[in-house]
Amino acid sequence: MVRFSFVKRAVAGMLVLVPLAAPAQAHFNGAKALEYTRQFVAIGPRWPTSQGHVKAEEFLRNQFRHDQLEEDVFTANTPIGAVPLRNFIVRFPGKKDGVIVLATHYETNYPLRNINFVGANDGGSTTGLLIAIADQLRAQTASGKKLDGYSVWLLFDDGEEAFQSWTDSDSTYGTKHLAARWGRDGTLGKIKAFILADMIGDKDLDIQRESQSTDWLVAVVRQAVKKFGYDRYFFKKDEAVSDDHLPFVRRGVPSIDIIDLDYGPNNSYHHTAQDTMDKISAKSLTIDGDVFMETIRLIGQR
Ligand SMILES: [Zn+2]
Repeated sequence: MVRFSFVKRAVAGMLVLVPLAAPAQAHFNGAKALEYTRQFVAIGPRWPTSQGHVKAEEFLRNQFRHDQLEEDVFTANTPIGAVPLRNFIVRFPGKKDGVIVLATHYETNYPLRNINFVGANDGGSTTGLLIAIADQLRAQTASGKKLDGYSVWLLFDDGEEAFQSWTDSDSTYGTKHLAARWGRDGTLGKIKAFILADMIGDKDLDIQRESQSTDWLVAVVRQAVKKFGYDRYFFKKDEAVSDDHLPFVRRGVPSIDIIDLDYGPNNSYHHTAQDTMDKISAKSLTIDGDVFMETIRLIGQR
């Protein structure tokens, strides 16, 4: 049911009913997500082994200092040798038995270390988005309460980017490590959905339907999109994208990559020094946050 508010206004002696906007729907705080992004990106480049990476780690540690935070430290064998990497996992407990993982990578690209690549959209925007989502989950679990549906784990993974050039072996180090570890210890069996956010701060938001993603999960996200009338921003194009969801897809975990891989004219902002704060928006992060929170709610009802 759609309800309108009316005001009475006299026009030329007649009483006219003028519809105002529908009552404000509670929207996600994209401005706050943008502000977190701004603070995080201000650190500068944060490629693995750099001082910026250490500062990025400190930033995340500080954000989640009162939460259930796990730091997953490991060493990756990369084309530049052994590199220490670190995933951050923040857990918010739910009433239902099972877990929804929301993930983003947070580091910047090592091969771009000499061009002041700050990854405002690529790694930055989704880190800000997940920090703002954490604010909501924290409020919902205050003083020992539990989320209505499944537990939600936020994953800030490291080493998504290639160290040389993208191949299956030179990429997604953090998620490959974690999917393997969670396979060994039985955690994977508890994961109801793995939802990846990548490059969706773009002012010009057009999220692809990533074709290796799990069909029912795509359908749930589509349902969330419809609730807000966001159809024009989602799934206009099908595209297969290699990304952090694949280590989970390969292990049979229902997974989706929510990605906008069309960034700037002819994709000219992607992996260039142009990936800066002025290219992303609070509006896009509001859209993302609305859809993510509703998707979590819908999965909890399944
Ligand atoms: Zn990238």
